[in-house]
Amino acid sequence: MNRAEMFARLHARSGPWDMIVVGGGATGVGVAIDAASRGYGVLLLEQHDFGKGTSSRSTKLVHGGVRYLEQGNISLVKEALRERGLLLSNAPHLVHDRAFVVPNYDWWEAPFYGIGLKVYNLLAGKYGFAASRILSKDETLERVPTIKTQGLRGGVIYYDGQFDDSRLLIHMAATACEMGATLLNYVRVTGLTPGGAGCIDGVQARDTESGQEFHAQASVVINATGPFTDDLRRQSDASIAPMIAPSQGVHLVFDHSFLPGESAIMVPHTSDGRVMFAIPWHGHTLIGTTDTPVDRASLEPIALEREIDFILSSASLYLARKPTRGDILSVFAGIRPLVKSATGGGTAALSRGHTIHVEKSGLLTICGGKWTTYRHMAEDCVNQAAMLARLPARPCITGHLHLHGFHPSADAFGGLRVYGSDAPLIQDLMRAHPELAKPLDSALPYTGAEVVWGSRHEMARTVEDILARRTRALFLNARAAMRMAPGVAALMARELHRDAAWEVQQVASFNEVAENYCPKATA
Ligand SMILES: Cc1cc2nc3c(=O)[nH]c(=O)nc-3n(C[C@H](O)[C@H](O)[C@H](O)COP(=O)(O)OP(=O)(O)OC[C@H]3O[C@@H](n4cnc5c(N)ncnc54)[C@H](O)[C@@H]3O)c2cc1C
Repeated sequence: MNRAEMFARLHARSGPWDMIVVGGGATGVGVAIDAASRGYGVLLLEQHDFGKGTSSRSTKLVHGGVRYLEQGNISLVKEALRERGLLLSNAPHLVHDRAFVVPNYDWWEAPFYGIGLKVYNLLAGKYGFAASRILSKDETLERVPTIKTQGLRGGVIYYDGQFDDSRLLIHMAATACEMGATLLNYVRVTGLTPGGAGCIDGVQARDTESGQEFHAQASVVINATGPFTDDLRRQSDASIAPMIAPSQGVHLVFDHSFLPGESAIMVPHTSDGRVMFAIPWHGHTLIGTTDTPVDRASLEPIALEREIDFILSSASLYLARKPTRGDILSVFAGIRPLVKSATGGGTAALSRGHTIHVEKSGLLTICGGKWTTYRHMAEDCVNQAAMLARLPARPCITGHLHLHGFHPSADAFGGLRVYGSDAPLIQDLMRAHPELAKPLDSALPYTGAEVVWGSRHEMARTVEDILARRTRALFLNARAAMRMAPGVAALMARELHRDAAWEVQQVASFNEVAENYCPKATA
C-alpha cells in the first residue's frame, strides 16, 4: 500500500474503470475489496484520509445490536450476527469477543434481559459466541468491580464482538490493493462528468496534495460517501430530495481505573431511551454514546457540551466513582449516515439497515447500514453495480476472504497485535533501530517504529493520519497525542522527504484538530 504505486496504477489504466467508488470509509473500502476480488477494475477516491469520516469514530462494536432486537428488527440482528461471525474468522487479529454485563437494579430485569439475550444468542446460530447467563450480585461485582453497588441485585452477561475500527479499515484498504484495486487518499471528487443520454460516465477529481486535477471514466460510479451522500447526489441532480438524516454520536475516554476488569457494561435504557456502553478499549475506558440530529455533516464534528454532560451524568448512575470532566482524556464525535424515514420521528428510531439507490443519471448510492455489516452491504452493492453497468456477473467471494494481516494467534504480539502478520516486520524494524522501539510518550504505548511503518506501508500522509487512525493516540489521550506530534512529524519528514517547514505546519494543524478532543474543564 503505497501512494506513488497507486498513482502508477491510475496512470497505467488505459480504458475506463469498471467501477469508481467515491468515499474511503468502511462502506467504500468494503465495496472496493468485493469488486476487486471478483476481478472488476476498481478505483476508489477518498478526499481526506481513509476513515477520516464516521468509520474511525464508532463505538468499536462488531455486534448484532441488542437494541434492534428490542425494536423487533430480527432480520437486521440476524444479518449482523452472521457478519460478526464472518469478520471474526476473517480478521481475528482485529476483532475479538468481549463480555458485556447488564447490571440489574430492578427485580424484573434479570428475567427480562436474561430471556432477551438468550434469544440474541440463538439468532446467531452457528456464528454464536459464548452463552449468556444470569449473574448473582457477587459475580457481577467480580466482573465489574467499579459498578455502583447501591440497589444492585445482580446482572446478565452476554458476549459480542469488539474491534479497532480505523485499524480494520487500513487492513481492508491493504486487502483491496492486494486484490488489484487502486485506492487513493487525499483525492477529492469535485464533479461527476456527463456521458451520453443524460448519464454520468466518470468523475472529475483533485489530488489535494499536488493540486492536480484529473478525469477518470467508469462503467458505473458508486457513491459511498456516508454522511456526505446527498452532497455527491446533488452533483448529478441539484433538485434531489435528501436521503440522509445525519445524527451525531459522542464518546468519552477515561483511564483504565474506571473499568479495570475485562468486562464491559451495557445499559439498555438511558434517560433518552438509548443504549449506553462502557467498554475497556486499548487499556482505557470508552463510554458512549449520544444521538443528536444535526443539520449538516462535517469531517471534524465537535461534541456539544450537553452531550458530554449527558454521558457523564448517565455513567454516574452506574459507576461507583462518578467520572468528571477532569477525568476525560479524549472526547470524539461521529456522524451516523442514517437513511431518512418516510414517516419522520427521531434519529434513534431510524433503521440501521442499508439502502441502495440509483439516480436517473446512473449514479449508484449505497448508504446507511453499520460497520458490522459492511461486507454484506458491499456484496449487495457490487451485485447491483455489475447489473447496472452490464458487466459480466461474477460471484462474491468475501465471505471467507482473509483480510490483510490475518493471524490466528496475534495476541502473542502484545501491543502490536492489531498489525497481525505485519507485527514481526515492525519488530524487525525495532531490532534494527532500537531508538524506534521506545514509546513516543509515557502515557501511551506507541513507538517510532509504528510511525515509520504507517508512513512506508499504510499510506499515512500527515501527523494526524498517524496519531488518529494508524495508531489511536488522539482517541485515547488527546493531550498525550499533542505531546507526541513533534516527534511523529520529525520521523515522517524523514520518511516522506519533507522539510522543516512541513514539520512545523503539520504540528500546528494537528494541534488545531486535537484541541477539539480536549474537553473544557467546565461546561
Ligand atoms: C457514534 C457512532 C457509533 C457507532 N458505533 C458503531 C458500532 O459500534 N458498530 C457498528 O457496526 N457501527 C457503528 N456505527 C456506524 C458505523 O460507524 C457507520 O455505519 C460506518 O462507519 C459508515 O461508514 P461509511 O463508509 O458509510 O461512511 P464514512 O466512514 O463517513 O466514509 C465516507 C467517506 O467519504 C468521503 N467523501 C465524502 N465526499 C467525498 C468526495 N467528494 N470525494 C472523495 N471522498 C469523499 C469522506 O471523507 C469519508 O471518509 C457508529 C456510528 C456512529 C456515528
